[in-house]
Amino acid sequence: MPAFTYQCGAWSPAGVFPGNAYPPAPWPGYAPVPFTPAEPVHPDIGAIPETFRRDFGALRGDHPTLSFLAAGPDAAAILATQRPDRPQGPLAALRDLGGDVLLLGVDHRANTALHLAELEAGRHTTVRHALTPAGIVATRNGGGCSDGFGAIEPRVADLTREARIGAARARRLPLRPLLERARALVAADPLALLCDRPGCAHCAAVATVDAPGRTRPVHPPPAAPA
Ligand SMILES: [Zn+2]
Repeated sequence: MPAFTYQCGAWSPAGVFPGNAYPPAPWPGYAPVPFTPAEPVHPDIGAIPETFRRDFGALRGDHPTLSFLAAGPDAAAILATQRPDRPQGPLAALRDLGGDVLLLGVDHRANTALHLAELEAGRHTTVRHALTPAGIVATRNGGGCSDGFGAIEPRVADLTREARIGAARARRLPLRPLLERARALVAADPLALLCDRPGCAHCAAVATVDAPGRTRPVHPPPAAPA
């Protein structure tokens, strides 16, 4: 599970350069927390990963902002594939083991695995920074805005198994074909899976670098739950 710690995200003047979608100065209220493996999962990631971390003895990687949790016989090997410049390593390892992605009460806008497909398609990526006990470090290839990821949904309907767990809509998809279709989609059209929010600096930067002169598409809203 993703166990991201956005509270450890830091600002550095080294991030201010064209195409990086980076603020020219620290954002209001800037007060990063130094990452340690005991740091709670950021609330935006949801209550389930934090519960998994706290109560189920899951192992955790050491990426300062984009760590993952894992349990089971392959957990340590999966987590060991993560590097500062390849945060999606555990997702690639899970794909190679024949794993699935499980969307629990969320849609594809929360499907972190799609960032791996973007990376493998050659999409422009940005540089971010994180605070560690040793100081501020650069992190790369972390993926950016996922608000346009809902556009993958009709393209993977045949891969999707769905059930209800209480009030939650749960969907399960095999990683290998999911990621191959998403990679092919982005490789064929650099604007695919970008969001259409006018103020999105990240998607604007990707479009400017990867598809100069073109305009991002307008998406229909994500489909309502069945
Ligand atoms: Zn965006």
